Amino acid sequence: MLQQTQVKTVVPYFKNFTKKFKSLKALSKSNEKEILKMWEGLGYYRRARNLLACSKVLINKYNSKLPNKIEELKKFPGIGDYTGNALLGLIYNKPTLAIDGNVKRVFSRILNKEEKKINFNKLIEQNKKNLFNTNRNADFVEALMEFGAIKCKPKDPNCLTCCLNKSCKYFKSNKKVKNFRKKMIKNKDYDIFCYINKKKQIALAKNSQISFLKNFNMPKIKESNSSIKIQDWKFLKSYKNSISNLKLNIKIYYKFSNKIPSSYSWYSLEKNKEFIPNFTKKIFKQVSTLF
Ligand code: SF4
Repeated sequence: MLQQTQVKTVVPYFKNFTKKFKSLKALSKSNEKEILKMWEGLGYYRRARNLLACSKVLINKYNSKLPNKIEELKKFPGIGDYTGNALLGLIYNKPTLAIDGNVKRVFSRILNKEEKKINFNKLIEQNKKNLFNTNRNADFVEALMEFGAIKCKPKDPNCLTCCLNKSCKYFKSNKKVKNFRKKMIKNKDYDIFCYINKKKQIALAKNSQISFLKNFNMPKIKESNSSIKIQDWKFLKSYKNSISNLKLNIKIYYKFSNKIPSSYSWYSLEKNKEFIPNFTKKIFKQVSTLF
């Protein structure tokens, strides 16, 4: 849950999730629909699907015991070097580091060297005796990430009170490295065509044409340059919606109709038991103003 998401956002979701699924077995018996509903609003839904898939693999193939080798862990859905190393450190107390953006920044600052010029794996390998001079590797993995998040922050690091400032090259240097990554913002125009009916329902298709929202329930979406006959639809509203590095300029069109294409189903604009992503909920909100 914490990947790309702040702790304060995650806490209520985590509490609900662990209240509902008290064991690995309970989680593995769940299904995608249920998990996605609980994850609704948290975003990056691939994490939820992978978590469920991992629980099933663990139960069915590993007798509920997480492997303790990185090669084996990387065979699990959604687990790569970062998550694999985090698990080995946090669960098995192994001498390893989860190299996220915070950890990279800490090393980059201590060396006063640009992140892109550092080979982090090599750096860790060469310094493993000093880095892992502890039997509390689990704490070390977590502490280093936290240190980057709350002390050696992206902007205005707390150098004056930092326990590393005597050896930190960034602190001592007059020529401090900068590691600001410019976010590449992409603008896209989307015209969204919503079939609605008098029962306050909207027609949604199972698959989205927007790749990062694949498999979500979405109103019919075509890019602005599509050949759809706009004159057949009424214009409702335009607004902007940012998702990650995408800035979507959205125009909503609607049509009251009882007939919908076969791939569509009706969904209530007010209450749904099914998982509806935030992006779609915002469309619901706009369409609801018609009633
Ligand atoms: S002295 Fe400043 S820049 Fe260096 S590690 Fe500490 S907080 Fe980061």
